Amino acid sequence: MRLSRSLIPTLKETPAEATIASHRLMLRAGMVRQEAAGIYAWLPIGLRVLSHVARIVRAEQDRAGAQEILMPTIQPADLWRESGRYDDYGLEMLRIRDRHERDLLYGPTNEEMVTDLFRNAVRSYRQLPQSVYHIQWKFRDEVRPRFGVMRGREFLMKDAYSFDLDYAGAVVSYRRMMLAYMRTFQRLGLRAIPMVADTGPIGGDLSHEFIVLAPTGESEVFYDAAFEAIDWTGDDYDLFSSEQLEQFYTRMTGIYAATEDKHDAQAWARVAPASQRQGRGIEVGHIFYFGEKYSRPMGLTVAGPDGAPLVPHMGSYGIGVSRLVGALIEAHHDEAGIKWPDSVAPFRAAILNLKQGDATTDAIAERLYSALAPDALYDDREERAGVKFADADLLGHPWQIIVGPRGAANGMVEVKRRLTGERVELSLEDALTRVCA
Ligand code: ATP
Ligand code: MG
Repeated sequence: MRLSRSLIPTLKETPAEATIASHRLMLRAGMVRQEAAGIYAWLPIGLRVLSHVARIVRAEQDRAGAQEILMPTIQPADLWRESGRYDDYGLEMLRIRDRHERDLLYGPTNEEMVTDLFRNAVRSYRQLPQSVYHIQWKFRDEVRPRFGVMRGREFLMKDAYSFDLDYAGAVVSYRRMMLAYMRTFQRLGLRAIPMVADTGPIGGDLSHEFIVLAPTGESEVFYDAAFEAIDWTGDDYDLFSSEQLEQFYTRMTGIYAATEDKHDAQAWARVAPASQRQGRGIEVGHIFYFGEKYSRPMGLTVAGPDGAPLVPHMGSYGIGVSRLVGALIEAHHDEAGIKWPDSVAPFRAAILNLKQGDATTDAIAERLYSALAPDALYDDREERAGVKFADADLLGHPWQIIVGPRGAANGMVEVKRRLTGERVELSLEDALTRVCA
């Protein structure tokens, strides 16, 4: 993309309404614009990051065997009357009436609809287990939308649902999804720690929230840094072996992690002090086993081996895709701006032409751009070098290639790594090799 003709309205001043770093930086970098409280338009830079996050989430869901579908944002109220949640949900649900006076709602989640899909499509125990997911906008009329996309009213969520024949099967699905989550967050450049969450009337211990440290967090969290040292993206655990998933789960739950309300001071004291991590935590994902909570009242059954009906056991698994964009910035920024991990950066590199209109710098910058496009942002504006440096740091591209008149005369450019601030002077070819490595 050429910056001179891009919808990237960067701001020098800090917007007054933004109280946390990620919100401030998303507005300053021109990633999003608020259209109404908690409702955002995503501009090119923001949308590119959002798409990269969704792509990694999708890849790991696919790897774990979940099938991608797409359910609508608008749902009939009748489905929610069947589960009893239409009345329970309260003011967070945005209720709509169509021209035929039918009650609709903007979906805050999709358990009812997915249960309906399965009750119409699945007849026999031979068709289970199965799981599905979608990445779709949700609406929750939050009392206090704040912190930008971290707590919006309209937000993008990946929600997956598993259907198993019995509890034992549901446990395997749950563990598989937990491993998929560890892999997903690590690939995104985040370390999200699973912490036991309330299961309410369902009971049991099969509910975990995935928490990352961020000052906006609503609760204090405690965990053992051992979590951060483990590489979940290797082949240590086969997602389709229940024995290996059990080993994975035992290892996971053996490392200390707890939110404030579940914190156990004695167990905490056994964690080596150098390994103790504590701070405000924000939830980026939540996995939950809820058994027959929806399948039973909604009449989802399959014929078992002896012909008798079985009620499937379900689980649901959410990831806050748009919230993650904010969480990523909370984890990766400095005074000057964002420092995107390579895996989600809007562009791999920015090309900074320090003397726009100069035949030599223009020629080199154009050559770099044609080699790197579409994964590069070419700052071809007629602006001072200082402005270009500041914007590149703000936008946080992992690499900057700086084309100045002096170096250009000798075919040299400067390459800066945003993460470390390290700069080296390289020939054009070496610069491309470095950035593409
Ligand atoms: P929270 O406790 O933060 O309100 P929740 O428990 O209501 O979240 P879930 O129903 O578990 O959320 O939704 C799954 C995921 O969707 C959450 O882990 C979170 O990442 C994301 N999410 C929930 N509410 C919002 C919101 N208002 N804005 C952005 N993301 C959200
Ligand atoms: Mg939750």
